[in-house]
Amino acid sequence: MPEGLQRGTVTVVLLSDKKAAVSYQPIERQKVYELIADQLLRRIGERQLHPGDSLPTERELTHAFRAGRSSVREALRMLESKGVIENRGNGTFVVSGYANPLNSSVQLLLSLDQATMLDVYELRRILECEAAGLAAERHTDSHLALMDAAIEEMAAALASDDPSRGARYIDADLRFHLAIAEATRNGVVLHTMDALRGVIRRALMSIFLVPESPERSFEQHRAIRTAIAARDATEAREAMRAHLVRVESDVHNALTVGSPAARGGRDG
Ligand SMILES: [Zn+2]
Repeated sequence: MPEGLQRGTVTVVLLSDKKAAVSYQPIERQKVYELIADQLLRRIGERQLHPGDSLPTERELTHAFRAGRSSVREALRMLESKGVIENRGNGTFVVSGYANPLNSSVQLLLSLDQATMLDVYELRRILECEAAGLAAERHTDSHLALMDAAIEEMAAALASDDPSRGARYIDADLRFHLAIAEATRNGVVLHTMDALRGVIRRALMSIFLVPESPERSFEQHRAIRTAIAARDATEAREAMRAHLVRVESDVHNALTVGSPAARGGRDG
């Protein structure tokens, strides 16, 4: 026991004793699996390994890292629990598809009643108004093309009488907002927006049937796009705010009415 700890209270000493007792493992060993996991993570981050690619086998990794099999296993388990790789059986691991660690966290917050759909919409307003401003300053033509494609798809969905027009419209709506997030060229903004996509989608499904809601929202998307294309950050923020405030109030009304669809959205 280091001297410093003995000067603490009895409780501290006891806790420290307990901690020491359960963590008596060779420190190098723990570091080895973390180093292995770090290296694999870097390969994936640098796109040397793409989603769907198989990782080398456990035996190959053991050999390549000149590490113990248990360290390799532990590293793989750690990456699997983070959703970075998936176990395909027979000891085969592949790089997961586009995994967004924030995604499951938002779902979890809603499931645990630590957040409501209205909180999510408030966050949208905080995030997306400024994102629209940044998009006005930083976008490229390819971002505008993505926004245009989404707007066209929204128009096509509105014009159709297909039963899936609601889902089609909402998917295009979300693509429009993701294009703006992408145009900020801030990866955290994009990932946060992407993480909200699933829960927002469910809430939007509950308001698609609100009379004139999609029609009004369509015009608002065009106004946002126009402001961004004109590189008018102030107008882009305002146009986004007007859009989100209206959608938020529609969602609020849908939730207050408490339709089954709205509840489904809230329970996430
Ligand atoms: Zn929208």
